[in-house]
Amino acid sequence: MATLSARATEDSTAKLAEDPRCARGLAWIDKSAAWVTDQQIHLTEIPAPEFGESRRAEALKELFAASGFHVSIDTTGNVVAERRGSDPNGVVLLAAHIDTVFPQGTDVQVRRDGNRLVAPGISDNGAGISALVGLARALFESQVRTNKTVVLAGDVGEEGEGNLRGIRALVDRYGSRLSAVIAVDGPATDYITTQGIASRRLEASVAGPGGHSWSDFGEPNPITAIARGIVQFSAVRVPTDPRSSYNFGVIDGGTSVNSIPSSASVKVDLRSEDEAELARLESALRDAMQTGLRDELAKCDAPSDALQLAFRSIGTRPAGKLPADSPLLATVRSVDRTLGNRSRLESSSTDANLPLSLGIPAVAIGGGGTGGGAHTPEEWFNPAGRELGLKRLFLTVVSLAGVEP
Ligand SMILES: [Zn+2]
Repeated sequence: MATLSARATEDSTAKLAEDPRCARGLAWIDKSAAWVTDQQIHLTEIPAPEFGESRRAEALKELFAASGFHVSIDTTGNVVAERRGSDPNGVVLLAAHIDTVFPQGTDVQVRRDGNRLVAPGISDNGAGISALVGLARALFESQVRTNKTVVLAGDVGEEGEGNLRGIRALVDRYGSRLSAVIAVDGPATDYITTQGIASRRLEASVAGPGGHSWSDFGEPNPITAIARGIVQFSAVRVPTDPRSSYNFGVIDGGTSVNSIPSSASVKVDLRSEDEAELARLESALRDAMQTGLRDELAKCDAPSDALQLAFRSIGTRPAGKLPADSPLLATVRSVDRTLGNRSRLESSSTDANLPLSLGIPAVAIGGGGTGGGAHTPEEWFNPAGRELGLKRLFLTVVSLAGVEP
């Protein structure tokens, strides 16, 4: 049965590619990769730090509107572009996050280095956002009419402390009408993310009396307590199966070099394929920071209340997994076979986590091209071959949304 239906999906995808309207969309993609890259540069050069995405959202709104989509910006800040289908109850949602990890003031000018474009955010998620712009235009040029409504969204709050608020609002908005969600994140066409890695982000902070570096020498120091905790936790064994990870990403504290600080804090990202392992990591982190604090107090011979430790949750991502026999996965794989694209299944932490955790079929895939150095100032993107990613999105969307005769 499974083979039969997989073959049926494959046949229909191949047939779809030959439909004259789809062929028109694919032909537009073949001659328009450079135009898509221009839109990518334009959007990447508009800063979009966490909680500061509105200017980029406005620019994206205009691009979607130019391709005949009905576009609005919702109260969360997401750009939501709809292309209505004949069936009001079916929605295929594609979401590309528009926020970046780079703070306000980062130089986001795109420079060319050979075939590469280099700029913070050029791949993550300039590649994904511009792929949606290209997809919108390809659908417009094809004049294909779909059964289901196609929604393209540039969503906020995927990175850092955004806590997936953008995709949460989109999933709330469309609810049970969602038949599939595709997060378009980064470049690359060689993977399909079907498993959402759970993550917890915490801030640990230590407060104390502070003091003068000379006259109060010997008083407990919150920075030292935090450092001891970090070293303590770094000795904890992290399993490779289920794959898990941690990162101390930001340290804050102190006011001057000759003052004992009165507070210090550290932000930590914990991830795992398994929720139980994630809970174990979090409790190990709490224990380690507590031990670090106790060691600092013991070293200074200070009373137990001289330093206070507090934890604050700054984000949780639920885990979820697309079933191996999901029609959504069969569709993407069949598109890959039609296009001669090889892809493997991946696990990752993306906007797809949220729908997956609610049992809504979802995957994350790339927008095409290649890239690297994500989340660093040297982030790069190479547009060579990006047509493949655009065609993959185009055929996946029309397959999922269904073409009107
Ligand atoms: Zn991303």
